[in-house]
Amino acid sequence: MCAAPVVRTERGEESFKMREPLLPAPPAIIAKVVQLAAQADCDVHELARVLRTDSSLSASILRMANSSLYGFAHKVSSVERALALLGIRTVRNLVLCFGVRGMTPAGVAYPIDLFWEFSLRRAASAREIGRRLSFSDPEQLFTTALCQDLGVLAMAVASNTVAERLAAVARAPAAMRLGAEQALGEGHDAVTARLFSAWQFPEALACPVRYHHTPALAPEPFRHAANICQAAEALADLLTVEDRAGAMGLATAALIGVGLPEAMLGGLVEAVATVVTQTAEALQIRVGDQPSYAEVAAAACEGLLELNSDYESLTAQLRQRATRQQRVAERLAVKNQQLVQWALTDELTGLSNRRAFDDTLGQELIAAAAMTQPICLLLGDIDYFKRVNDTYGHAAGDAVLQAIGHRIRACCRAGDFPARYGGEEFAVILPETLAQDGQRVAERIRGSVAAQPILAGTSRIDITISFGVAEVSECAHPRAGVLGLRRADDALYAAKESGRNRVVVAPNPARLAS
Ligand code: GH3
Ligand code: MG
Ligand code: MG
Repeated sequence: MCAAPVVRTERGEESFKMREPLLPAPPAIIAKVVQLAAQADCDVHELARVLRTDSSLSASILRMANSSLYGFAHKVSSVERALALLGIRTVRNLVLCFGVRGMTPAGVAYPIDLFWEFSLRRAASAREIGRRLSFSDPEQLFTTALCQDLGVLAMAVASNTVAERLAAVARAPAAMRLGAEQALGEGHDAVTARLFSAWQFPEALACPVRYHHTPALAPEPFRHAANICQAAEALADLLTVEDRAGAMGLATAALIGVGLPEAMLGGLVEAVATVVTQTAEALQIRVGDQPSYAEVAAAACEGLLELNSDYESLTAQLRQRATRQQRVAERLAVKNQQLVQWALTDELTGLSNRRAFDDTLGQELIAAAAMTQPICLLLGDIDYFKRVNDTYGHAAGDAVLQAIGHRIRACCRAGDFPARYGGEEFAVILPETLAQDGQRVAERIRGSVAAQPILAGTSRIDITISFGVAEVSECAHPRAGVLGLRRADDALYAAKESGRNRVVVAPNPARLAS
């Protein structure tokens, strides 16, 4: 046996990369039989003579020929008779099986008995699927599938670490085993194919082995066999893999994939179990009782139920989490709304602030333009407010601002939009309102402020307010808002200039320049 070609990856992990065959070549007699059988004018007597030179091989062939697998009525008592009854190719395949079977390495940290039992299940599966598909040579499929995972043994002898890692996934589904091998360096399909080519095994065996995980890549003459070997692996996994529910799904899909009806699964599993039992002794493979389809199906069903209950508890958890998230989202939405409210409200008076006023003015202008309606803008400024602060203090000034805020609001209709525009300045948007109506609202506010003194602590403070009013009729104009406010401000200035505590209406302008 060659030295274990264990190499280290860049990450320093032990990795397997086979450069030479790690398993010993089969005995010379196997090669000789294969060579003879490959000849078109193969002489059966010559073949029998060669076989007889190896008594244990001859005995194995007879054991196999007499097994219930072939079910001959009479005992097959000579190698010639076996060759006549089974045919040269089948005998050659049996010879290959025994040859390969004899290559079990010793002292490997891998469950060898299980390896052969699982391989036998693959072989039986390939044969039974092949028979149901009327494949030309189901016995050859048996041999191919028996050997197809041999690369696992070759890898296992590389090092005990590699062997232990492979053993850890021995009962995993095919794709997972292959993935684990590839993580260690190379898949068994590639390794086995190299062994076969080193041993000069016929292409009809080597090629389906090479491609049994990638049948689509197989050369046309061997694609069908590669397909069947792949499906055989999935079917055999159903008896082997611990996750029966998952294996059931994969096996069913594999059957459908090769063109067999799903309904055949039960019968196939029973047939595979029978073939395994029938051939195990002849191939000297130790096997336990093979599970029946009923057992497999029951386990799969249980697995599905468990999966379902796992799923249900998972869904319950997810639902709880979703509810929690929903609650958080609702609280956030409320908080956001509050933040927006705070951002747009004047804290002292509770009226809208300048930012809200500007936003709303923009929206009201668009709406007014759409309805070709005017809006009216009021700008109010408390008269001599500085004196209030100076005389009564800042807190009293604040109280005055609050009170005036209330009085302005009380004088507005539902659709009007009063705001604190600046320090002691207030502004109101009056939608669909002409200048004269705006003037009336401004008068109402002015009157209500002037009518009663404002109470601030123990002080009664007489306050007045002046207003400028501007009607905006060209609401679609891009600067309608700015120009309207400017006119209202000019009118307010005029009100101040003309004595305060009064309302001045801005003259309606000529058409605005576009
Ligand atoms: P006018 O009639 O010409 O408007 O005279 P005025 O005194 O009202 O005008 P001025 O602009 O001279 O003074 C405004 C004062 O308003 C000055 C400022 O301290 C006061 N003020 C602005 N914001 C606040 C506020 O939030 N609270 C208080 N208490 N005072 C404020
Ligand atoms: Mg002022
Ligand atoms: Mg003022």
